[in-house]
Amino acid sequence: MSEMYSRERARTDLALAMIQREARTNTIKRCTGLSDDRIRKLCSRYFTERGGNRVRRRRGKSPQQTARFVRNANHQLQATTLMNLFVLHSLIRFEGASFRATWSNPDVAVGERFCAAFDSYQTVYARPLYSFEWAWALLVALARDEDLTPGDCDRCGSQYVRDRYDLDLHICPACEIRTERRRRPGARHYAGA
Ligand SMILES: [Zn+2]
Repeated sequence: MSEMYSRERARTDLALAMIQREARTNTIKRCTGLSDDRIRKLCSRYFTERGGNRVRRRRGKSPQQTARFVRNANHQLQATTLMNLFVLHSLIRFEGASFRATWSNPDVAVGERFCAAFDSYQTVYARPLYSFEWAWALLVALARDEDLTPGDCDRCGSQYVRDRYDLDLHICPACEIRTERRRRPGARHYAGA
C-alpha cells in the first residue's frame, strides 16, 4: 500500500467516522481537508450502504455559545469530563493557569483523537448533554483559552472548566453537586439537565 493511498484512506475513514457521529460538513472539512463535493458523496454513500437516512445531518452554523458549558453544575461537570478526555488524548494541555492546544490547525490526527475522546465521553454518561459538534465547539473554546479557563477546586484539588468572567468560587462541579445533595437528601438532580 503506497503512502499516498494510506493517507487518502485515513482521510476518508475519518470523514466517515465523523459523518457517523453527526459532524457538520465544515468540521469534517477542517480535519480531513476533503472538498465539500467529496464529503457530500461520502455522506450519500454512507446513507445508501446503511439503507436509509438514519443519521441526522446537521445544518446551519456551528454551536458557539460557551455559556452552555457552565450553565449549571451538570453541564459544567460533563464539559469538565470532556476537558479531561481532551487532555488524555493529547488535544489540549495545561500550561500554568491556561489551556494550550497541542495543534495549530486541525488535521487527520486531531480528528481521530477527537473521535476517540468523544466516544469515551459517550460511554461515561447515560445521558450525554453534548453532541459531537458541541464537544468540538468546547475543544475549540478551550484551545482559544478566552471565555473558558481552568479552575482549581479547593475541596478535591481537581481542575475543571470555568467561566473566566464569573466569580471564582474554587469549587468544581462534582463537589458542588455533592454538597447540594448532602443539603437536600433524596434530591436526584441538581440544577436540572
Ligand atoms: Zn472538587
